[in-house]
Amino acid sequence: MLEDVNESSPDWVRPVLVFDMGAQTAQLIARRVREAHIYSEIVSPKLSAEQILARKPLALIVSGGPHSVYEDGSPHIDPELLKSGIPILGICYGFQMLTQMLGGEVASAGRHEYGKAEATVATDCPLFADTPGEQVVWMSHNDEAKVLPSGAKVVASSPGAQIAAFEIEDHPIWGVQWHPEVRHSEYGSQLIKNFLFNAAGLEPNWDPQSIKEHEIRQIREKVGNARVICGLSGGVDSSVAAALVHRAVGDQLTCIFVDHGLLREGEREQVERDYAASSGVKIVTVDESERFLNALAGVKEPEQKRKIIGREFIRAFEDAQRALVKEAGEAGEEIKFLVQGTLYPDVVESGGGEGSANIKSHHNVGGLPEDLSFELIEPLRTLFKDEVRALGIELGLPENLVWRQPFPGPGLGVRILGELTKENLAILRAADRIVREELTAAGLDRQIWQCPVVLLADVRSVGVQGDARTYGHPIVIRPVVTEDAMTADWFRLPYEVLERISNRITGDVPEINRVVLDCTSKPPGTIEWE
Ligand code: GLN
Repeated sequence: MLEDVNESSPDWVRPVLVFDMGAQTAQLIARRVREAHIYSEIVSPKLSAEQILARKPLALIVSGGPHSVYEDGSPHIDPELLKSGIPILGICYGFQMLTQMLGGEVASAGRHEYGKAEATVATDCPLFADTPGEQVVWMSHNDEAKVLPSGAKVVASSPGAQIAAFEIEDHPIWGVQWHPEVRHSEYGSQLIKNFLFNAAGLEPNWDPQSIKEHEIRQIREKVGNARVICGLSGGVDSSVAAALVHRAVGDQLTCIFVDHGLLREGEREQVERDYAASSGVKIVTVDESERFLNALAGVKEPEQKRKIIGREFIRAFEDAQRALVKEAGEAGEEIKFLVQGTLYPDVVESGGGEGSANIKSHHNVGGLPEDLSFELIEPLRTLFKDEVRALGIELGLPENLVWRQPFPGPGLGVRILGELTKENLAILRAADRIVREELTAAGLDRQIWQCPVVLLADVRSVGVQGDARTYGHPIVIRPVVTEDAMTADWFRLPYEVLERISNRITGDVPEINRVVLDCTSKPPGTIEWE
């Protein structure tokens, strides 16, 4: 969690706090608020009014949740907050909780209302400004408000809920039974904006430039004159985190890039040349490809490959760290901090970031001397992925890096079914480059979430190339689309693009005589083949 905001802090650090009442959608609410350019964070309803007020929130939103407010032990926010004068919006469970806490009555509706509903709204209520009197909303409830709190009036109803929204006369408190944060609610984003700007009277002030300035100030304050290291993976998060830290403390930062020999074509150059040029960061590359290939020799089993790659990666990274620490020590300097590209969803999912700030970088390798201990700097830990991308652009990083598709840590190591040899890696690299080039040329990079290219090194089939019999390998292309990588669908690549990819690969990569398309969703297939 961020530190308390003091008087000298700029206004925009003051958050809109979203109470997570166990909803599927608390993160979505926070995102909608941020999309309206107001900073927002998710908090637990267990926090006391005092703890909440110390954050100087601009407004509060209470999310939906699976409980019924009349059940024993159902979550409630501290009642003191209702008298604080801070604007509050309750959504679904949050609406029902406010109804009950303000003296109304909530009970089972005896039926449920799931999905699309038509609501009639009072357009003179600030929540519904600039929206039509009849609108499609998305409902998901079994309980309903039977009796309004005193001083409240109904400002919306739906066929399944007589009281579908209320406002309180003398308090800046509103509630809606439906879910404005989901896209299916036609004017949902507008409702959230109306709450922030019309009802609560806030001003938008959260944008990439202010994020950048704030983070830079914080990093400078924390780091002082100490030295900092960062592991670069070539991915978006570590690249943006390092660029930000570099902007704050310049050459006090050194980045380590481990070349494990499982990189795609051009990847090392992209990091060493393009990224270094655009961000100015100092990069130490350690070429460890021999070490990885030796450790992986003869290994075909996917889990074993992943384990070996993970283990060697930690060792290689630690060796590089240790060398840098030693070098700095000889120059009379101390490396005190390690940068990590942790994002907000990771923080929320691991329980709100109550983790320890000090890690032993080698905690997962037994038997190593305990001589490396850093304090963490996680400049992205309050941001969502799209905000990280916007910040990357604001920092002047190239678009192709900022919009880079996710790539697994073990790299091409999990895209060869069979042994990871230099030869197999070279074949896969060549095919993968062609696929990437064609997808970029077709303008599909942002539509496709990721497109693994997989070499079936242990499979051979008969072909004919240049009038001669061949006995080559098939290559698989697996274009997918997904929101969160938990489930995915295969992307319908246009036939012309498939044709070009197939012709070029079989023409340019002699070991490959067949190109196949993976048209499996997830589940049942995972995105990667290993
Ligand atoms: N559990 C409550 C109900 O069924 C609230 C549901 C919700 O917040 N989605 O009405």
